[in-house]
Amino acid sequence: MAAHVPTMLAMIIVSSLLMAASLAVVGWGRRRDGLGYWAAGLLVNALGHVLLMLRGRVPDVLSIVVGNLLWSCVFVAMIAAIYQFQGRQPRWLLLLVPPALVTALVIVFMDNFAARVGWVGLMIGLQALWAMAIALEHRRSTVGRGQWLLVAGFALEGAVLLGRSLLAMGLQGGAGATNILQGSGLQTLTFVATFTVVLVSSIGFVFMSRDRADENNRMMAALDPLTGVANRRSLIAALDRDVARAVRTRESIALMMVDIDHFKHVNDRYGHPVGDQVLCSVVNVLSARVRSQDLVGRYGGEEFMVVLPDTTLAGAEQLARYLCRAVEESRCPVRTSGDAGAGAASAEGQTIAVTVSIGVFGGRLEPGDSWDMLIAAADRALYEAKEKGRNRVEVATALRRPASQATADSYSGADAASRY
Ligand code: GH3
Ligand code: MG
Ligand code: MG
Repeated sequence: MAAHVPTMLAMIIVSSLLMAASLAVVGWGRRRDGLGYWAAGLLVNALGHVLLMLRGRVPDVLSIVVGNLLWSCVFVAMIAAIYQFQGRQPRWLLLLVPPALVTALVIVFMDNFAARVGWVGLMIGLQALWAMAIALEHRRSTVGRGQWLLVAGFALEGAVLLGRSLLAMGLQGGAGATNILQGSGLQTLTFVATFTVVLVSSIGFVFMSRDRADENNRMMAALDPLTGVANRRSLIAALDRDVARAVRTRESIALMMVDIDHFKHVNDRYGHPVGDQVLCSVVNVLSARVRSQDLVGRYGGEEFMVVLPDTTLAGAEQLARYLCRAVEESRCPVRTSGDAGAGAASAEGQTIAVTVSIGVFGGRLEPGDSWDMLIAAADRALYEAKEKGRNRVEVATALRRPASQATADSYSGADAASRY
């Protein structure tokens, strides 16, 4: 099917301009996510196709040489956009090789339409596949399906242009279209592919930005900004889930509350910024020593929680003693920045040692048991550890159940200890 070529060109021009304007609005002020480069690519696409459309009405050097050069530059801008989105520096010299080659080839084959279409199709098709490869190479830098739209558009453009190139090379010297404005099925397919990049890949690119912003928001809602571990909200969500599973499976579950001893002194002596470094250092010690299924999080202030699914009280107690010793033996080096304060400045080069007290609960749960009962039990044990002198581990062997639940519960605290 051969569509009316000027109409298709006009569609590409109008859609590129509208898309560029939309992206400019969406991306205004967001300089780091590539939307600016992408919008620039779409503008260049519109301009290049205006020149193609004016074939015969403007000098050939404008329509053919500059028109094809601009078409190639579209992919330079889009690849630069993807690089910037991925936080990488575009390799400009390398990116500018294809437009330079396209220009040279177009000049060499100025009078040979088939060869020109073949070579330009090959170069720009390869650029489209290059864009696709760069997007795929760092596909884990973004979540969501926006990137698949981006990749699909480039894959179609690359495949069509390479196919067109092969066919055109086969036509060299033979029959076939002799002018870009002559309609043919292949020409229609080429414009459809370009249209797809303008629409589908652009929408994909915008979605990639949005997907990443959503992911950042999700992370910010789930993680503690200082230490990077789970915050109280996600700790409780995870504990709630694990408690429900432990009730169902009758597997033992354990929980630790870890509190830094005399942390106020660290702040008072070295200042809050150094106190923050100590918090991060303790988190690192804890996180590096738990299993992958365990969850370390910041419950609040200088208090941390470790959720240990499928763990007996004995196992959790052993781990708690190990963590307690590991924190005691670790040293947090003081790194000062300009805003670290006088206390920190005098401590530059020193290392700070802290200890932790840990309250542990572990055991099998009964229907009706809930996450807050586990926290309360571990908290009681933590209180006891503080009372008994700090830098130690205490365990809670039973949950305090409400009276209504306790009547249905057949075991006493002493029984419970023997069941862990
Ligand atoms: P204890 O051994 O009884 O736990 O004594 P403590 O000094 O550790 O406990 P206290 O509750 O008296 O003080 C906790 C301190 O933790 C007070 C607070 O300023 C500090 N803190 C809480 N959150 C942060 C934080 O994000 N950064 C810093 N630097 N300090 C924090
Ligand atoms: Mg404390
Ligand atoms: Mg505390």
